[in-house]
Amino acid sequence: MTKGLQLTNLQVSIDEKQILNGVSLTLKPGELHAIMGPNGSGKSTLAYALAGHPSYTILSGSKVTLDGEDIIELSPDERAQKGLFLAFQYPVEVPGVSVQNFLRQAYQARFASEPNRQFKTVLAFRNHLKAIAQELKIDETFLRRGLNEGFSGGEKKQLEILQLAVLEPKYVILDETDSGLDIDAIKKVAKAVAVLQKKFSLGVLVITHYQRILQYLKPDVVHVLVAGKIKQSGGPELVEKLEKSGYTTLKD
Ligand code: ADP
Ligand code: MG
Repeated sequence: MTKGLQLTNLQVSIDEKQILNGVSLTLKPGELHAIMGPNGSGKSTLAYALAGHPSYTILSGSKVTLDGEDIIELSPDERAQKGLFLAFQYPVEVPGVSVQNFLRQAYQARFASEPNRQFKTVLAFRNHLKAIAQELKIDETFLRRGLNEGFSGGEKKQLEILQLAVLEPKYVILDETDSGLDIDAIKKVAKAVAVLQKKFSLGVLVITHYQRILQYLKPDVVHVLVAGKIKQSGGPELVEKLEKSGYTTLKD
């Protein structure tokens, strides 16, 4: 069995229009891969298709396996239960629900099939959550905030990071995590991701148009997506090269 999130010749279409034209990569446990590419190259399509979003059709001949198991036919919830996490997969605007209650529900759903992982009391879960918040340097008062109370960009990311820590996924896909964030918020997100990556031997796929977050999260592999295909893969040095010369100078 191949441990990892393995994409083989992934082809995806939206409304009959093919967007991804055969993407292949293997993200192993504990590795961090970055997917970079110009606007419209298919980065978000890749993230949504992996999450199992119903608008995206995965074409025949494509293969996606998670630790050896084919996940293409699985629902988004089933994928989550297998340990795949997408930052934007969960709605954040739920009126009248606090951060901690939202996270408790998410936890219960994630570990529904593992009775020995359930907490016996609400208080026991809250203590678990407090410990996580402390580890990630997130203020405890944030846990009592309401989900509909107008989160700033940085606070939304903070919630995503908490979700990530609570759900203990094996593989995580972060799409455009650094867009619209100030440098302190980016650093905070990056640090939290690094902590979790180590703690859970998490495989991380960072999808980004910018290189900013990659100054704080060192990728093992960088893939450049152009027109729905990986045009080039390399080490972290590729990030600087792209920053200097842009996407257009890449050789075919
Ligand atoms: P990126 O995230 O790299 O900027 P996207 O995956 O969002 O790129 O988009 C890739 C291509 O797919 C673009 O040409 C975009 O116009 C098209 N596209 C994205 N979403 C839809 C949609 N819902 N319907 C039709 N075309 C779409
Ligand atoms: Mg995008």
